[in-house]
Amino acid sequence: MVCTEKTATYVMHSPIGDIQLVVCQKGLHSSSQIISTDDDFCPYQKQQVKIKSVDIDDQFSKHVKQTVMWFRVYFSNYFDLDDNHQPKLCMDSIQSVFRKNVWMTLAQNTQPGETTTYGGLMTLMHSKGFSGCAQAVGSALAVNPFQIIVPCHRVLPKSGEFGQYAKGKKNKVKEWLLKYEGVGCCQKRKQEHSFGCEDCVSMEIGPKKIRISTPCQKALSGS
Ligand SMILES: [Zn+2]
Repeated sequence: MVCTEKTATYVMHSPIGDIQLVVCQKGLHSSSQIISTDDDFCPYQKQQVKIKSVDIDDQFSKHVKQTVMWFRVYFSNYFDLDDNHQPKLCMDSIQSVFRKNVWMTLAQNTQPGETTTYGGLMTLMHSKGFSGCAQAVGSALAVNPFQIIVPCHRVLPKSGEFGQYAKGKKNKVKEWLLKYEGVGCCQKRKQEHSFGCEDCVSMEIGPKKIRISTPCQKALSGS
C-alpha cells in the first residue's frame, strides 16, 4: 500500500538546527535535519522549537502541532514524554513490515539515557517472531525517516565503535544527542536535567567506552 494523500512540508526550528517535517492528513511521513553534514552543525540549546513562520493548512495542522509538541517536550524535558505525546506516524508508503517493526521496537524499548545494539534490537525482533540478523536491523535503521522520534542515535554497534549516523556524516549530531540524553552521565544529571553536568564534562559510553566530548560552548552559554 502506498500513501496517496497529498503531503505538505514544513520547517521547524530546534536546538539542533532546522528540521524538515513532511505530513499528510493521516500523519507524519518524516522528520529530518536539514543540514547534511557535521560541518554545519552548531547546536543552540535555547532555540525554541517552533514552525518557521508560515500558515499551516488546516488539514495538516493536527499532525504538525502534535509533532512540534513532541519535539518541544523532547528538547525541554524528555523525561516528560509519554504515549500521549507520540505523533501519529503515517507509514502507508513503507512496504517493509520488518522495517516498520524495527523502528517501533526501537522507539518503544530504548528510552533517553539508554543505548542498545543492532544485535540487541534483533533479539527483540526475534521475540516478535521475525527472523533476520543484526545487519538487517542496521539496514532498516539506515532508512529511518523519523529522525529522533525513532531514536536510531541510541543504537551502537556491538564492536564498540560509535557507528555511522547518517552514513557517518552526522556523528557529531549523534554525540550531541547522546550527551543531551545523559548517556553514561551521573545521577545528578538525571535529577537536575541540566545539560552538560559539570561532573560529567566528558563521558564514556558503549562497550568500548567511547569518550564523548564537551558540548559546543555556544550551547552552554546560550549566547
Ligand atoms: Zn501519508
